[in-house]
Amino acid sequence: MLILMNPDHSKDDLEGVLEKVRALKLKPHVIPGATSVAVGITGNSGALDPREFTMLPGVRDAVPVTKSYKLSGRDFKHGDTIVKVGGYEIGGNGFIAIAGPCAVESEEQTIRIAKAVKAAGAHMLRGGAFKPRTSPYAFQGLGLEGIKILAKAKKETGLPIVTEVLDQRTLDQVAEYADLLQVGARNMQNFALLKDLGRLKKPVMLKRGLSATLDEWLMSAEYLLSEGNGQIVLCERGVRTFSDHARNTLDLTVVPAVKELSHLPIIVDPSHATGVRSRVAPMARAAAACGAHGIMVEVHDDPKRALCDGAQALSPEDFSSLMTDVNKITTALGRGPAATRAKK
Ligand code: PEP
Ligand code: MN
Repeated sequence: MLILMNPDHSKDDLEGVLEKVRALKLKPHVIPGATSVAVGITGNSGALDPREFTMLPGVRDAVPVTKSYKLSGRDFKHGDTIVKVGGYEIGGNGFIAIAGPCAVESEEQTIRIAKAVKAAGAHMLRGGAFKPRTSPYAFQGLGLEGIKILAKAKKETGLPIVTEVLDQRTLDQVAEYADLLQVGARNMQNFALLKDLGRLKKPVMLKRGLSATLDEWLMSAEYLLSEGNGQIVLCERGVRTFSDHARNTLDLTVVPAVKELSHLPIIVDPSHATGVRSRVAPMARAAAACGAHGIMVEVHDDPKRALCDGAQALSPEDFSSLMTDVNKITTALGRGPAATRAKK
């Protein structure tokens, strides 16, 4: 249920609505709008009677919200959510590029690649320190040491850090250093982790689960939003289908679908979606063309020796020409420069 307040409602009118919602043992969410205020209600298992609210002073209307996701949907918020990360804005008309190695392997490797992607036009540095690997025998990441290396790379280059938080145990360590905390595909439905991230005051990148529907994905975002964290960036990284010519199937139709249904920004990861270097740039260009708010691309300067995902890593040179193309595409679409510096 969404309660729409009259433009001339008083503070007491709004308080009366909030009290009413709390008396029903439900949770009110005040949503400021351009001309007035709305109050979203979550926590109800069945439909609410709109008359319970329309009779209250200062209330213009009470609209039932039929979708299972609420706070992440456009019914609850019409304008776009803009997530601010290290001075950059993700969402709206801007387009950001996150780039870096799959995994932090050493200080030299990370700083070298960070400088290269910065020179090529990346706005943020990615790199996994806690790695979710299919095999327990594969490189699991450098852990806290890797996080500290990322912090050094940030100091050297000024690039904000995007890195994965694997579990609740290491959440505090990651949150201390990361500018944007990545929830990987495998953790999209780790609800306990999502609840803890929801209580954090830091932006979260929520990757789409290996075979998650759009509804399931938005319900995971709902876990963060309902705990109070609305700084969410969705990331499409391909889903599993019957197709076996690529690592995953990049579902670009989800980009306009998300933009219709949700106010949250969505970026695209063409690296994990394709798994093959030669297909990364075409899909990244397509992501820019179909309206995504950014891309996240794996880059390595010695992919043969990469400890993880070498086959899908672009060289810094290839990443640089991709950035030239992406800038042309976003400019042609009237989206201005690739990234917008957030107003401080
Ligand atoms: C990653 O981006 O490092 C990663 C592991 O991706 P995903 O969770 O999408 O597989
Ligand atoms: Mn990877």
